[in-house]
Parts: sequence; C-alpha cells; structure tokens
Amino acid sequence: MLFYKKLKSKYNLLMVFLLSLSILLLSSCSESTEMKSKTDFKEGTICTINLPIDTNDLVFDECFAILDQVESQISRTDANSEISKLNKNKTAILSDETYMLFKYSYELARESSGAFNPSIGAAVSLWDIVGDNPRIPSDEELNNIDTDYKKVIFNDETNQVTILDNMEVDLGGVGKGYSANKLRDYLAGQKINRAIINLGGNILLMGAKSSNQDWTIGLQDPKDESGTSYILLALSNTSVVTSGTYERYFEKDGVRYHHILSSKTLYPAKSDIISSTIISNNSALCDILSTTCFVMGSTKALDFVNKYDDVYSIFLLSDGSIVTSENFDFEYTILNENYHMI
Ligand code: AMP
Ligand code: MG
Repeated sequence: MLFYKKLKSKYNLLMVFLLSLSILLLSSCSESTEMKSKTDFKEGTICTINLPIDTNDLVFDECFAILDQVESQISRTDANSEISKLNKNKTAILSDETYMLFKYSYELARESSGAFNPSIGAAVSLWDIVGDNPRIPSDEELNNIDTDYKKVIFNDETNQVTILDNMEVDLGGVGKGYSANKLRDYLAGQKINRAIINLGGNILLMGAKSSNQDWTIGLQDPKDESGTSYILLALSNTSVVTSGTYERYFEKDGVRYHHILSSKTLYPAKSDIISSTIISNNSALCDILSTTCFVMGSTKALDFVNKYDDVYSIFLLSDGSIVTSENFDFEYTILNENYHMI
C-alpha cells in the first residue's frame, strides 16, 4: 500500500513535470518568428525591410515613403531638396527636422576635429566617386573650394544656415543612419517591435530573432565577393553600421580612389582600417562614427569611440587584425581564417 502511494506521488510529479514541459514547448512553438521582406532602391542604395509575417503591406509602403521624404530633405542628387537649395543659394531656412540633423552633424564635426566633415561637399562633387563621372580633381580645383566646417553660420531662432560661396554641404555620411532611426520610430508607433532595417548595409535591428535568440549579422569581407562575411555577430535591439573603401570607388592607373575623403588632403582618406563598424542604439551616430573612425585610423578611432557610452566598434585592419573598443562583449564567429582578433 505504502509502495503504491509512493508510486502514485511519483507519477503525479512526473505528470506535473510533463505538463509544464509541454506548456513551455507550446509557448515556444506559438511564438511566430517568421518575417517577410520588401526591397526598393532608395537614397542611392538597396533598402530591404524585414517585418513580422503578419504585417500589413501598407506599413512597408509607409517605410519607403519615409525614405523618399528624407531624400527630399537631404539628397544632393535631388535638385529640390533642402540641402541642394542650400548648396545652390548658399543660405537657406531649413525645416525643423533638417536643421536638427544639420546641427547634429556639425556637432560631430567639432567633436571629431573635422574627421567627420559635412562641409566636404564641394570636394565630394569634384571627385564624383559615387556619380557617373568619377575623376581626379586638379590641385587648382581643390585649392579653390572651402571645406572648413567652422565657417558655417547657424541661426537657432530662424533655422537659417549660411555657407561660403565655394562651399557645399554633404550629409551622405549620416543620411542612412538618420533614415533608419526614423523608420524605427515609425514602426514602434505601429506597435511593431521586431524588424531588420537594412539600408545599403546600414542595419538597424528591432527586437531579437526570438525570445531566446539574437539576430546573426554578418559583416562584409572587404577582400571577398559581395555577400561574403568575415565575421558573424550576435546582436539584438541595436544598430550596426559599416564604412569601408570596398563600398564605392573607382580605379585609375592601378590606384583605387574611394568615397571617404580626408578633410586635410581632400583626397580619399588613407587609413589602416579596411572595414569600420560601429554598434549603438542610435543609427545616425553609428553612421557618422563609422565614417569618422575610418578617416581617423584605428589608434585615434579607438580612443575616440571609447569616450562614448554604449557605443562599440570593431575594425578590420589591412594586416588582417581585428580590433574592438574596450567594452565590446558581443558573441562573434570569425569566418575568414586569415583574420585574427587582437
Ligand atoms: P559612409 O558611406 O557612411 O561612410 O559615408 C560616405 C559618404 O559621406 C560619402 O559618399 C560622401 O558623400 C560623404 N563623405 C565623404 N567623406 C566624408 C567625411 N570626411 N566626412 C563626412 N562625410 C564624408
Ligand atoms: Mg557613415
């Protein structure tokens, strides 16, 4: 009898255990992690947005409309954008949003002592590296332009900005990150909390892959074919942005001229970094810092990034070494055996 009682209570325990296990399994099965994606060409690049499978298509439409709206604010190829009008007339009263982004960009120009320089536009125009007729400008042409970010005049009361006659503004180094932040704000307003926003490699992750799994993000191997990653990172709820010379360039007489310019030489910046990646919540800051760090080179860049809270960096250097900022503690897998973490 006693034996039977014991057996019965053991049986009960087993039932409770099995029941709770099946509830656990059921709840993980019922969590839908399926996504659907839509791609469009916006802001001069391929933009892909992944959202939960049950998302209404109108939400995708609105996302792409937001990207169009940003272009109408800051694009340099759209002659009617606010920035194009500023570049043409040398003075303009900007919308509140564009003015805020403008001020933010110039704040980072000061913080980086001009490594990030939104006033570099006239040099970008001369080189035309992302345009149809890339070429090496003459010394005379480069001497005749002004790229001094300190000479821009701001009026916080009226949103008016004034630049010099031989100066142009270029917000191409922050535009995609700024757009990604805007998309996140819109999606959050729609109560969507899982998304992968990929604006030409400028990535913003909302939520995680599932309740117990990060997204896996691969960083392009600059020395390999497009789509081949040199490292995989486990990330969620953050933005990850990479700048590198492999992205946009032209070659002449065996020399590669890429799209990130040095304020000092007005030539493509020489850097020991071949892939500059920044991870942080703020995609606009990631975008700015990835460009900035590339220009600075790894030694200066690591010091610079370490000053920011909750900002992490991972740089691939030309000698195959991978260096990270002090606080970098994300899980990673290196895929290229020629590269090593130091
Ligand atoms: P990214 O691809 O984000 O690294 O930004 C590069 C783009 O920013 C270029 O295509 C230019 O439009 C612009 N740019 C180039 N050099 C600089 C610089 N030193 N500071 C700020 N923007 C730059
Ligand atoms: Mg950038």
